[in-house]
Amino acid sequence: MLDELHEIVGDVGLLVGDDVAPFVVDWAGKFTTRTALAVVRPASTSEVAEVITLCQRLGIAVVPQGGNTGLCGGSIPLDDSNPEARPSIVLSLTRMNTILSVDVGRATVTTEAGVTIQALQEACAAEGLLFAPDWGARGTAQVGGGISTNAGGLNVLRWGSLRSQVLGLEVVLPDGQVWNGLRSLRKDATGLDLKQLFIGTEGTLGIVTAAVFALHPLPSRHRTAFVALPALDVLMPFFAHARDHSDGLLSAFELLPEEGVVRVQANAPQVVHPFPEPSEWYVLMRFSGGDEIDDALTSLLESAAEKGLIDDAVIASTAEQESNLWFIRDEVPPTFTFDERGKRHKFDIAIPVDRVVEFFERSAPVVDAVVPGTRTFGFGHIGDGNLHFSVYPGPDATLEDYDERGAELERAIDELTWEFEGTISAEHGVGQIMRDRLAGQKSSVELELARVVKAALDPAGIMNPGKVIPASKRDDEVGVGS
Ligand SMILES: Cc1cc2nc3c(=O)[nH]c(=O)nc-3n(C[C@H](O)[C@H](O)[C@H](O)COP(=O)(O)OP(=O)(O)OC[C@H]3O[C@@H](n4cnc5c(N)ncnc54)[C@H](O)[C@@H]3O)c2cc1C
Repeated sequence: MLDELHEIVGDVGLLVGDDVAPFVVDWAGKFTTRTALAVVRPASTSEVAEVITLCQRLGIAVVPQGGNTGLCGGSIPLDDSNPEARPSIVLSLTRMNTILSVDVGRATVTTEAGVTIQALQEACAAEGLLFAPDWGARGTAQVGGGISTNAGGLNVLRWGSLRSQVLGLEVVLPDGQVWNGLRSLRKDATGLDLKQLFIGTEGTLGIVTAAVFALHPLPSRHRTAFVALPALDVLMPFFAHARDHSDGLLSAFELLPEEGVVRVQANAPQVVHPFPEPSEWYVLMRFSGGDEIDDALTSLLESAAEKGLIDDAVIASTAEQESNLWFIRDEVPPTFTFDERGKRHKFDIAIPVDRVVEFFERSAPVVDAVVPGTRTFGFGHIGDGNLHFSVYPGPDATLEDYDERGAELERAIDELTWEFEGTISAEHGVGQIMRDRLAGQKSSVELELARVVKAALDPAGIMNPGKVIPASKRDDEVGVGS
């Protein structure tokens, strides 16, 4: 197999032995594997197609990998201890990193899948256009990974998730055929929209090799404000006020607790706390537009203060101040370990936007009832109803109980999320960790439909096995509508 792979991708495209190490552990060091026979780094769509055809013939599993910043273990082959694990290759898209064209007339960009989010943002901005997706891992995460996880991030509130930016895709199918769907149409009513099959399905149905994205007019200016809330229960009234009085200029609305700011400062002493006196909760918000944004933001904050929705606010007046505020936001997820022993359960939930605070308040007694002394922590893209939420042992929790009852803690939060008509994965995807938990959220009809599609496209099951789509019906598939 290695000889044949070598013939396709050459020396530079094939890594074996110790060289595979960086590709078989995820960003957080949580998932690893010994089932990867090689890392294959093709340089073109035709090389990807040849590699897939070979793997199909030999029955080798293919695990696509972009920037490897995913948070659900999707880009790492299953660990050997997993009964579904099988010999696999990691197929890295890193060498397919050419931006093919920015079309100013159409306001579109056509790009290979291995281009990073930041590189695409910068290339489009140079042509006066906005590639809207944006999040903390922008310098490493790739557009192929973003498409495959239907990534969200900071700008969803104004411009939508990754799915809504994709106009066309090129995909290598599990049998090695190439589907060229690189269309740049804003409208197309000709039946099945096939590209949707490959958005958010994490390489289980094919390898995304290129994409056409819709672009937006580039706002000439941004203004960021860091706002102190008097209490958490004004969060959603303040959001509704901001949304309804911003003339469409609001482009981000992020919740941050003081606990998060303190932890970021401890890791990065250069960070300046925005306020001399701390509050318990803050909102980081951004207006994007033209010259009108200064007056619009100031008047919004004044009216919010008059209504008692905010206690205090600072507006960044220099680039340095602005980057200090966004640094705090970007660094909360990577630096926050909550517990010195590194123990926590992480959730990426979305619920209807008007019920976020209610959810947050209900969650504390729910986890405390499972393991007394367990605490909760939440932050994130609140304007989208998306809470990055963690459960960790407080000083009074018994660690043995916390360790032993991890699955119960997880289940308790999942069930609360469903009670609130929410989803247990808002934007991070499914990967390995969420796959079986989906049985509680999706009906057996829905899960069976997904299996039918998977079996039709990938009957040998070589594409990213053990991820996203459960292989067979489980006893606990009793979700709503089953
Ligand atoms: C600090 C930090 C902050 C983050 N913030 C956010 C955030 O705000 N919002 C958000 O949505 N995510 C966030 N993420 C998660 C992560 O960046 C996204 O999930 C991103 O989309 C993953 O892209 P990637 O290129 O790293 O993909 P990878 O991690 O390499 O892969 C992700 C999944 O997609 C599959 N895949 C990758 N490339 C392809 C391809 N070309 N074809 C088919 N399948 C493929 C993989 O097999 C895997 O299942 C954050 C991560 C970090 C580390």
